[in-house]
Amino acid sequence: MSDATLSDGHDGRRGDPELPPFRRTRRLRRTAAVRRLVRETALAADDFIYPLFVAEGHGVRREIGSMPGQFQLSADQLPAELDELAELGIGAVLLFGLPDEKDPLGGQAHVPDGVVQNAVRVIKRHDPGMLVVTDVCACEYTDHGHCGILVGGEVDNDATLGLLARTAVSHADAGADIVAPSDMMDGRVAAIRAALDAAGHLQTPIMAYAAKYASAFYGPFRDAAGSAPAFGDRRSHQMDPGNAREALVEIAIDLDEGADLVIVKPALAYLDVIRQARDRFDVPLVAYNVSGEYAMVKAADRLGWVDGRRVAMETLLSIKRAGAGRIITYHAKEAARWLREDAAAVASSRPVLAGEGSRP
Ligand SMILES: [Zn+2]
Repeated sequence: MSDATLSDGHDGRRGDPELPPFRRTRRLRRTAAVRRLVRETALAADDFIYPLFVAEGHGVRREIGSMPGQFQLSADQLPAELDELAELGIGAVLLFGLPDEKDPLGGQAHVPDGVVQNAVRVIKRHDPGMLVVTDVCACEYTDHGHCGILVGGEVDNDATLGLLARTAVSHADAGADIVAPSDMMDGRVAAIRAALDAAGHLQTPIMAYAAKYASAFYGPFRDAAGSAPAFGDRRSHQMDPGNAREALVEIAIDLDEGADLVIVKPALAYLDVIRQARDRFDVPLVAYNVSGEYAMVKAADRLGWVDGRRVAMETLLSIKRAGAGRIITYHAKEAARWLREDAAAVASSRPVLAGEGSRP
């Protein structure tokens, strides 16, 4: 801060000539109303994309042990879920499929009546206005749990591209609004774009998991989606946590290949990557507040070690402040509810203006 600012009439020497000049920034923090006035970032229900785990069968509503409040749902359970989301003002979901049958080639990923394809149709019938994003990867559909087709015990990049492209087209055929490839194979956005266009889905955007790290924060998700690899890990295709510049390269490549929106995943341990991506690229940027981030807050809250509500909201706010336009988060429903409660509390704490109270 320059001396000019300090001497610009803001000095704090009132009545005390002993004090040096200083600026009173606390003026803008004194009341809730002033804090609201100068707040730079605020959350809204529109910010959230809610992940849904869709299982086969009927009447399935299984809570995921490591993700309290999150459920595996069969398609018949979706309408009630959609009504709740709509009531809360959440307008987008991200679908993951839990097929009963798995095979080495992930064949169930792209059948017309697969678990995700059926779920998309159920959602679109019940609530055509709900934006449906589908996760496109092989790991939920392969019996070995890897993100693609194995050749010699390794995920073969080029052999996997056709599988991903067919899967994306089958989702779009079923009515998905956006497809979201999460596999981290090289060239998959180009392959998916070409396949979508060839199938007539010129208007279906691709939301690419462009910067997806090989992260320990995915642990609970693998319980939820039954997608833990039977051997090895995903470090040969997901990014090394030490790299941020490489994330910018990955994003540039995906945009070049035709991605319309990009995702940084996970969010909390990668806020710097979100910020750099925001500063560098003028496209919609989405952050994935992943299962481990959610589970840690829930566990600490249950133990009474933190105030889970405040920690969750502060976390989501930090992700938005870092530059994410939208956040994929398991907190979506409770966060939307808390925002509504906060707004109601603000409204009820204000005195009724003259005249307002007399209206019927
Ligand atoms: Zn995968």
